[in-house]
Amino acid sequence: MSLKSRTAIVTGSTSGIGLAVARAFAREGANVVINGFGDAAAIEAERAGIEKEFGVKAVYSSADMSKGPEIRAMVADAEKTFGAVDVLVNNAGIQHVAPIEEFPPEKWELIIAINLMAAFHAMAAVIPGMKARKWGRIISTASAHSKVASPFKSAYVSAKHGIDGLTKTAALELATFGVTVNCISPGYVWTPLVEKQIPDTMAARGLTREQVINDVLLTAQPTKQFVTVDEVAALACFLCTDAAAQITGANLSMDGGWTAA
Ligand code: NAD
Repeated sequence: MSLKSRTAIVTGSTSGIGLAVARAFAREGANVVINGFGDAAAIEAERAGIEKEFGVKAVYSSADMSKGPEIRAMVADAEKTFGAVDVLVNNAGIQHVAPIEEFPPEKWELIIAINLMAAFHAMAAVIPGMKARKWGRIISTASAHSKVASPFKSAYVSAKHGIDGLTKTAALELATFGVTVNCISPGYVWTPLVEKQIPDTMAARGLTREQVINDVLLTAQPTKQFVTVDEVAALACFLCTDAAAQITGANLSMDGGWTAA
């Protein structure tokens, strides 16, 4: 178990990719902090289930990733509870689909706050401890949209391109401290985030649900298959191994060939 006695925070892990990553880390022996919104009883069932299934400690933080002080308090609490935070996964994210001239400015700001600024706050909070212990792994869930654009996703594409830049900068700052910083850039992964944007894309482009799935989403992916949350989680686990010690500042695509085109 490569993460035995390590502690990992995974933001936005009550659903989708983050939940799969948190569960995979726990399977590898890590204590985990799960975070995100959702039904309180369902979150508690998931938290308790992780502890029971994998024999680790799992705690839940309700920190809102749009609020810097809450993010920093989440890290401080985890350090107090577990003594250290060894792995940080910046994963929480939201989407909004609209043409730029109709994009609500407050939505734009919220997407930048959750999808980009939150990673800065969380990194700022975990870095001193990681530097002192000379070991750490910082992983962000970016997106194919950190490399290429799609229409009507101006805030998301801007935030994800920003994550790529933040990743490279942090990797350089931490290169001599045993701390690697990378991002994973999935194409379309079948999660609630993708499912929820289908109606907006139908409206924005005047398409049916089937057309959005086949002609918009999977059009971009040459393999014609969705990425799975378990595939993303497996790469996150690999990045935490010693074998990945020289992978830093990388933006690793997992997009069925989307950004090769
Ligand atoms: P999801 O909607 O299933 O999960 C998002 C998680 O973020 C949830 O746990 C949610 O509660 C949490 N969250 C949202 N706002 C929050 C806030 N203010 N504070 C704390 N938590 C918050 O989505 P997902 O598809 O699993 O997406 C996870 C990440 O992967 C996002 O950063 C997303 O941009 C990225 N991504 C997703 C895909 C995809 O196709 N699904 C592709 C590329 C990248």
